[in-house]
Amino acid sequence: MTDLPTPSTRRPVPGQLTFAAPRRGKPPQHLADLDEAGRKAAVEALGHKGFRAKQLSTHYFERFVSDPAEMTDLPAAGRAELVDAMLPRLLTPVRSLEADDGRTIKQVWRLFDGALVESVLMRYPGRVTMCISSQAGCGMNCPFCATGQEGLTRNLTTAEIVEQVVAGARMLRAGALAGGDDESRETPLRVSNVVFMGMGEALANYRQAVNAIHRLIDPAPAGLGMSARHLTMSTVGLVPAIDKLAAEGIPVTLALSLHAPDDELRNELVPINTRWTVDEALDAAYRYYETTGQRVSIEYALIRDINDHAWRADLLGEKLRARGAGWVHVNPIPLNPTPGSIWTSSTPAAQQEFVRRLEAAGIPTTIRDTRGKEIDGACGQLAAVEV
Ligand code: SAH
Repeated sequence: MTDLPTPSTRRPVPGQLTFAAPRRGKPPQHLADLDEAGRKAAVEALGHKGFRAKQLSTHYFERFVSDPAEMTDLPAAGRAELVDAMLPRLLTPVRSLEADDGRTIKQVWRLFDGALVESVLMRYPGRVTMCISSQAGCGMNCPFCATGQEGLTRNLTTAEIVEQVVAGARMLRAGALAGGDDESRETPLRVSNVVFMGMGEALANYRQAVNAIHRLIDPAPAGLGMSARHLTMSTVGLVPAIDKLAAEGIPVTLALSLHAPDDELRNELVPINTRWTVDEALDAAYRYYETTGQRVSIEYALIRDINDHAWRADLLGEKLRARGAGWVHVNPIPLNPTPGSIWTSSTPAAQQEFVRRLEAAGIPTTIRDTRGKEIDGACGQLAAVEV
């Protein structure tokens, strides 16, 4: 792999925002990039009957099969070429790391051009959540986030996003995360939830991210047949994109990375705040709730002596309550350490007080059960550094 160009990312200067992803070569087109009509056309253009598209979709989205030898319903003559053209390999595994007694697996992937991305599979009671990347790097430059400090390498294609989930499904089918639990050995685990909380700002790669959502929720064999409500789109607060997403008519859950209730601090912690303020982001989140009926989640990384003050909890509670009741809940995340950062997580006492004050204001609040810390797989630790 040494002959591949090394993607170069420049560390952004503080406050710098990067919206336009650098233009780079595109990976080969994949079945998951296309809707059903597009797949049929692509198969026909390769000289095959249109119905082969559905057979290929079944192998990919329902059976999670990638080896042409297992696709015996396709004619042997030309099968390998057809599979190669429609299901090219997009992700090459680089490393796989386990944590939390085998209940968390972080996977590092190499893309066709050498760029690295990560995804994380997490088993919770009754569900498996997969955290996926939408960009290689990120242009949003939040100073407490490892990915943000790396800069933006490029947008992922729809299929590169979807393929992470299919790879997760394949791993589960092969027994990953099953641990010693008898019940899950009998019924293979499924990816039940997907969160766009890996590398990247998915709403800055809007079309590909929304297409990926379609592939995840389209009924099999067109897609994975997941429930939209089990998908979470996390954003720094790109207001026009939040409104656009609300208008798509897909009830995915929205998570807003707020991290401060006041503009002065949020300008520093989440530089996009210099474009859209706290109040503008919260108004957009509320509109999202009104349009979709989905309760919005507010993410708040608790950073010791930076944003964890009692008055900030009160101000956050006030701002959320001012917009209504029952529309929102808060998800504080004790800060995960990142390389070179001087910040640390809030003390347990400060965390408890923060939660208590929000709850006193009538805002449901749950501290996130963060996973994968010791393998740099937790929120904000994904930087895909090869060691
Ligand atoms: N670009 C999206 C997805 C990023 S990751 C977004 O910003 O929402 C998902 C969450 O992890 C975000 O809320 C992000 O702010 C948070 N996060 C980033 N770095 C973190 C860290 N070091 N500790 C805890 N949470 C962090």
